[in-house]
Amino acid sequence: MSDSFHSTNPADPEDVIGEFPVADAAAVAAGVARAREAFPAWRDLGLDGRAAVLRRFQAAADARKGELARLIARESGKAIWESRAEAALVAAKVDVTLGPGMELVAARDVGGGARATWFPRGTLAVFGPFNFPAHLPNGHIVPALACGNTVVFKPSDQTPAVGEWLRERWREAGLPDGVLEIVHGGAETGRALAGYTGVDGVLFTGSWATGRAIQEATLDQPAKILALEMGGKNAVVVLADADLELAVAETALSIAASTGQRCTCASRVFVETSIADAFAERLAATLGALRVGDPLDEATFMGPLVSQAAFERVETARAGAREAGGERIDLQVDLPPPFVGPALVRFEELRQSHPYQRDELFAPEAALYPVADLEQAIAAVNDSDYGLAAAVFTRDRARYEHCVGRIRTGILNWNKGTIGASGKLPFGGIGKSGNDRPAGVTASLYCAVPQAHLESDAGLDPAALPPGFPKP
Ligand code: NAD
Repeated sequence: MSDSFHSTNPADPEDVIGEFPVADAAAVAAGVARAREAFPAWRDLGLDGRAAVLRRFQAAADARKGELARLIARESGKAIWESRAEAALVAAKVDVTLGPGMELVAARDVGGGARATWFPRGTLAVFGPFNFPAHLPNGHIVPALACGNTVVFKPSDQTPAVGEWLRERWREAGLPDGVLEIVHGGAETGRALAGYTGVDGVLFTGSWATGRAIQEATLDQPAKILALEMGGKNAVVVLADADLELAVAETALSIAASTGQRCTCASRVFVETSIADAFAERLAATLGALRVGDPLDEATFMGPLVSQAAFERVETARAGAREAGGERIDLQVDLPPPFVGPALVRFEELRQSHPYQRDELFAPEAALYPVADLEQAIAAVNDSDYGLAAAVFTRDRARYEHCVGRIRTGILNWNKGTIGASGKLPFGGIGKSGNDRPAGVTASLYCAVPQAHLESDAGLDPAALPPGFPKP
């Protein structure tokens, strides 16, 4: 360990949450070595033995979820109502994993002596993002452990205390030493961990830029599986027959939940021309009335951005909106950075060519475009390098069904915003959003390797031998 860093509350720079050691290359190697050593015994414990530990973790996480919610709010700036929702997901992941998740990798007999089983990959690196510092790494860790892998976990360097909180619950659950190692640090620690040859796979949730760097760093390690859950440029479609009250509320939530810092947040809104003005006016009014403030205040809808650096990045990106031909409606807040107000940017043309219109923004802001009809809306949604989430608002189920499979995203909702997702379903996207290894219930599929068997105890059947083969 060569260095250390502090974690602070983005809403209150005086509130220092803790000091954490930065793991250098040697510390990463030592953590991976301990996890590799722990692997055979954890694998050989069998699913029932591992499930007992997972159940104890579930109970420990559930018993202290209020404490976790406050820590998430303090360390990431996420409003307490949302932090509570995230904290509750940690224990819930155990049921999804031990139920439908493990069914996907359960031994199956297809008759005639043919059977498939799944075995663990070995030692997997898990990378967490700051915006769901508990739920998303937990969404890789629980299935990885259930399948019999050991894990080296690198929390986001913006939320190390939440990472430590998770580790403590595993300790309380009696997880054997070495089965879950933790290394702290930023990009350098991440690079050392992802590229380390002793790591059998990288389960990553974060930005496209980092996911790309991890792919590049592991090109010469084809045996290393990468499950990459990355960013979004998510879209809402509002058709003229939509329930406007519902569409406005769900769209505002999708734009501004987690201060716009969710992979599924909406940043593009396509509205049928005949209702575009009315919709934009109501949406701006709702966004403008959102309460911005202390994340720990029960009345707050949204807290600050995660850091000053994020604020500066967002300010630079926001400046591109006018250059792209948009008209900004900024809904200001009277609070210092990294607090930001929501914003809407109206475009009259459907061209999406400027980086402002194509790159992930990660702020409570969306571009609103008029569309002539449903076909134009589908084409506009698909005109993106990302492919994570979309939502369609219409009273006509048939018009929504027409979008299913034509809108090319991993998540497509009807009359529910882009941020709505079920943990019992796959969760992932295509293009810059993911590499087709969705998390959610399907996470177990990338944590285990299928093995096919033909099995017999019948001895040699001479009648089954091919012609020209000598009979015994
Ligand atoms: P990030 O990519 O900056 O960081 C993610 C993790 O990678 C952190 O642990 C970080 O320390 C580490 N890291 C940074 N640079 C690295 C490098 N060069 N090599 C290896 N590791 C490195 O992401 P973030 O800002 O923490 O999170 C926000 C991003 O995550 C957004 O793009 C968001 O859309 C995305 N996200 C995706 C999903 C999903 O399920 N698809 C969910 C949540 C967030």
